[in-house]
Amino acid sequence: MMSKTEDKTPKKTPRCPQCGKPRVQAYRPFCTPRCRDLDLGKWLDGSYTIPAVEEEPPDERNEEGW
Ligand SMILES: [Zn+2]
Repeated sequence: MMSKTEDKTPKKTPRCPQCGKPRVQAYRPFCTPRCRDLDLGKWLDGSYTIPAVEEEPPDERNEEGW
């Protein structure tokens, strides 16, 4: 019999760049819509440079496996 353990512990826990909490897949790379909005607010504030394309580091693909 196979004992299937749902023990998928990632080496590194992706964090929300806004508050540092573990990110939520639905709102990645943030943890909540609020954090996403806060980050968007920075963009509007001119603190961020808006990139032409949204690039995702190849690293991210590993974390989407679940
Ligand atoms: Zn957050």
